[in-house]
Amino acid sequence: MLKEENRIFHNIHGFKDLSLAGARSRGDWDGTKELIQKGREWLIEEVKNSGLRGRGGAGFSTGMKWSFMPKEVGDRPHYLVVNADEGEPGTCKDREILRHEPHKLLEGSLLAGAAMGANAAYCYVRGEFYRETEALQRAVDEARDAGLIGKNACGSGWDFEFHLHRGAGAYICGEESALIESLEGKKGQPRMKPPFPANVGLYGCPTTVNNVESIAVVPDILRRGAGWFASLGKPNNTGTKLFAISGHVETPCVVEEEMGITLRELVDKHGGGVRGGWDNLLAVIPGGSSVPVVPKSLCDTLCMDFDSCRDAQSGLGTAAVIVMDNSTDIVAGIARLSRFYMHESCGQCTPCREGTGWMSRMMERMVTGSASIEEIDLLEEITRQVEGHTICALGDAAAWPIQGLIRHFRPVMEKRINDYQATRNEQAA
Ligand code: SF4
Repeated sequence: MLKEENRIFHNIHGFKDLSLAGARSRGDWDGTKELIQKGREWLIEEVKNSGLRGRGGAGFSTGMKWSFMPKEVGDRPHYLVVNADEGEPGTCKDREILRHEPHKLLEGSLLAGAAMGANAAYCYVRGEFYRETEALQRAVDEARDAGLIGKNACGSGWDFEFHLHRGAGAYICGEESALIESLEGKKGQPRMKPPFPANVGLYGCPTTVNNVESIAVVPDILRRGAGWFASLGKPNNTGTKLFAISGHVETPCVVEEEMGITLRELVDKHGGGVRGGWDNLLAVIPGGSSVPVVPKSLCDTLCMDFDSCRDAQSGLGTAAVIVMDNSTDIVAGIARLSRFYMHESCGQCTPCREGTGWMSRMMERMVTGSASIEEIDLLEEITRQVEGHTICALGDAAAWPIQGLIRHFRPVMEKRINDYQATRNEQAA
């Protein structure tokens, strides 16, 4: 369990003073000027050495991502874009940072900007996060009034502006290139890559898009040292992480824990346990709606880190832990996710536009049992045709939950089809 002295987020539940003075009393904005003055190379190396992997779902090294930006600022300005479009079903961790720990995000943005030669950051906030945007804007105003951002931020000699932009509620705008398009005032549709944003991003300029949590932990990493962060968690899966526990648990919550904690400890200690006890567990979606479901037999020993979840043929994703007990209709649950992805497909590429519709309609038949047994294999085949054949990862996100369902719950699907047929035969007789 995470020791108190290693905690990064001391006010994630918002019980303490939310103002700048409160944030400062908890250690935020301490020695920021000195950190900036250590220079770009030091900042990037330190984040690289900490082993921090992006907290938005993909788990790519944050320091490495920063190092892809051009070394010198040429005639095109550099930009940092903060992705606060948290829309993955089950995921609700970044909103807690926005409304309760906004100064961590601001200080982290300044440091990330200094590391990448960016004098401006754009924070793209999910449109529904109205109160969160207000809280963040209040923090921006406070920081600007105190000289922490703006011209000569913190007296460091580095100019840094932080702009907020509210989205309009499209899930796909959480994909970094669609987010950039939307920021530019266009339809939020993912771009083909390459070129990657580090070369051609916002307004055609070098840009790095980072998740809120990835940026918010940077000040602590730089203050306490890469070695401290790397000593937490497991090799290649370092540090602490915000987990959002929801579903059939006694006390759903967002909690900071060490990477690599077992799922059982996480659910029992922080989620108050599975409703009806651990033995009443059916399955868990460990990383937000786009990763495959993990059945109880694997949950018993599952560790919550990128590599362990991958080894269990799932993913840590955003660490949004959706717990389902034995009362769950797992086929209907996954069908609901399929409908979500069909609705959120931007329609730009054929396998996703058509495939998400096919998958959703087939899943509806799986729910009622009015499909045929052979269609289970056909459904699986469609997921394989969509997976990896699209411009962005939404295609994969639509395919993986169904693959997980078929992998672990095929007998449930077959029984439902057989029962439906038996009832029909009885009625006909
Ligand atoms: Fe749009 Fe889907 Fe293609 Fe992504 S995969 S670009 S959401 S159609």
